[in-house]
Amino acid sequence: MDAVIMSGSELAKSMRQEIEAEVQEFITKHGFAPSVAVVRAGEDPASVSYSNALKKAFGARGLGFTLHTLPESASQDEIVELVAKLNAESSVHGIMVQEPLPKGIDESIVKDALSPDKDVDGVHPVNTGRLAQAAPVGRPPMVGPFFVPATPAGGMEILKQYKVSLQGKHAVVVGRSTIVGKPMSLLLLRENASVSMCHSQTEDLPGLCRTADILCAAVGRANMIKGDWIKPGAVVIDFGVNFVEDKMTGDVDFEEAVKVAGMITPVPGGTGPMTNIMLMKNVIEAANRQVRSN
Ligand code: NDP
Repeated sequence: MDAVIMSGSELAKSMRQEIEAEVQEFITKHGFAPSVAVVRAGEDPASVSYSNALKKAFGARGLGFTLHTLPESASQDEIVELVAKLNAESSVHGIMVQEPLPKGIDESIVKDALSPDKDVDGVHPVNTGRLAQAAPVGRPPMVGPFFVPATPAGGMEILKQYKVSLQGKHAVVVGRSTIVGKPMSLLLLRENASVSMCHSQTEDLPGLCRTADILCAAVGRANMIKGDWIKPGAVVIDFGVNFVEDKMTGDVDFEEAVKVAGMITPVPGGTGPMTNIMLMKNVIEAANRQVRSN
């Protein structure tokens, strides 16, 4: 029997209604909408199309959105100054700096410049550090509030909504980037999964994947994970966004995997639609925290 398809598109559709209600409630209470400022330096085509998509998605839910562009020639100081200005602006509740930044810009300095309270992308060291330090769910967290990057947060929301039990299960995450693989591993660990984080130097990756009850792919290589890498009945979360002859495809060979897995996210229509939803939730959370602290 084919795997259950975990539809991020369907889930996102129902969560959009929740978000609209939360935004309306916030506006009624405070007289303004939670708002995000997006910073883009240069005209990378994927970044341009992502900021356009964000503008549309945020606008449609009643959230505020402003785009701040700098030329490809922008210096590190100019980018940091813009971030500092947005940190200080009370009408801006969340800030996102789009990548890639122009050549020669030190991304870590730009991330450090963000106010952790407005870092809705969860990339500031305070947010990544608190996620790493946070105790397992159900125990006192022992850290202050933090933001989780939207893509892995979306993957976790799919697992939650599809009632996938993580307690004591073996989760294998392929990919260790700071924006997807690493936070996903930490989130699974917090939910009491036993986690193996894999990468380009992992030995016998197919063998390790075959031991996974929950297999997450965040690699950026089309169809890399084959059907015979998957344990029968495993739950597969595919974060990959790749294009093969203009067709969007994940990191998992879906046609093969769907015959072996117990549950699987499709690409498109899986983790992708959830990313914007979780980002919106972070912006609303940031705005709520800021009004509470004023
Ligand atoms: P990165 O390029 O930053 O990281 C890729 C990771 O994959 C690295 O840890 C790398 O290992 C590992 N890797 C590369 N090749 C192999 C291999 N042959 N075997 C095992 N591991 C390998 O990518 P991102 O984390 O930013 O993105 C991952 C995927 O997720 C991409 O397809 C991206 O488009 C997609 N994505 C999807 C989003 C969504 O909304 N669904 C949002 C963001 C990203 P090493 O560390 O050793 O180099």
